[in-house]
Amino acid sequence: MAGLYLHIPFCSSKCPYCSFVSFPGMEQVMPRYARAVESELATLVRQEQETPIETVFAGGGTPTILPTELLIPLFDAIRKKFSLAAEAEISIEANPGTVTRESLARLRQAGINRISLGIQSFNDSELGKLGRRYRTGVARQAVMAAKAAGFDNLSIDLIYGVPGQSPATWRQTLEESLSYVPQHLSCYQLTIEDGTPFAEMMERGDLDLPGEEDIEMMDEMTVEVCRSAGLRHYEISNFARPGRECRHNINYWRNGDYYAVGSGAVSCISGRRQRRTEDPVAYCRMVENGRSPVIEEENLDRETSFRESVVIGMRMLTGISRADLVARYGMDVQDCYGGLLDRLQDGGLVELSPTHLRLTDYGRRVANTVLAELV
Ligand code: SF4
Repeated sequence: MAGLYLHIPFCSSKCPYCSFVSFPGMEQVMPRYARAVESELATLVRQEQETPIETVFAGGGTPTILPTELLIPLFDAIRKKFSLAAEAEISIEANPGTVTRESLARLRQAGINRISLGIQSFNDSELGKLGRRYRTGVARQAVMAAKAAGFDNLSIDLIYGVPGQSPATWRQTLEESLSYVPQHLSCYQLTIEDGTPFAEMMERGDLDLPGEEDIEMMDEMTVEVCRSAGLRHYEISNFARPGRECRHNINYWRNGDYYAVGSGAVSCISGRRQRRTEDPVAYCRMVENGRSPVIEEENLDRETSFRESVVIGMRMLTGISRADLVARYGMDVQDCYGGLLDRLQDGGLVELSPTHLRLTDYGRRVANTVLAELV
């Protein structure tokens, strides 16, 4: 299958932990950017014309900062360019404070059938520390607006490991999120990225991050609370009701093909990876001048692609299918990693069965270290 990613690089402010391609204060560029995205879409070359696109994902940034009169035509242009599967999953990321019941109803009527709300926390002090502009009252309104607008495939995105957070406040956020009966929950542990204000604060010793024991408690609590609410843990940071897993992200984790449009967006089709310029104005200028916004291109060789499939596939709790790898690359994990797998198994970090390679529960807790060994 193939998916399509649409990047909207605008936000109302820049959160101090954010390393995404996102820029505040660019309202004036938005109409020009939307036109440029439509132009880039028109130039995309479809491979395998007969295979419909199964998933579309508008991410950011904050896609819903674009007025619906700019946003909806982009989805129309995608439909015009690509044949979408009848049951295509069409997702949008949205942040509280940028949506109303009316705007969400328009998006729903335009065929967007999944929404991922970046709530992050139901605790005002934590929202403040994260630099989010809205508070819990607005977050609650956003959830209610999405439901009232008819989104019956709702994901709530949360962050844990926030400065000043305790296992008790994380439990409250989790429980409140689940009280809205979402179909999907993403729970990402805060990571401190180089070059962000949080990295500087950490350097100065000004970031009161929870300790390791608290993080471990939050990890365990997340799995337990989600499980008792009927959400299956299917990827390191993601939980869903059966059948409501994010198909777009599963395609990434299976290292499937994906098209992309927009500044900073990355596509990968048949082992050819392309990255577009991050600067939205440079992106517009390049597209307007009839030039490709792609600034970096890489053709992945068989072994690189194989290793990537293993590393990202291991994020899913089912792990990776050895038969699928052999069918796709003519290689098994033992051919590629040999003794390393024995060492990881002896350390209780991975399980190798005749059919799958997967992380153990312990391996998942230190996934970054384990996966770094498999790169
Ligand atoms: S809303 Fe998201 S994309 Fe925008 S600055 Fe904050 S973390 Fe980054």
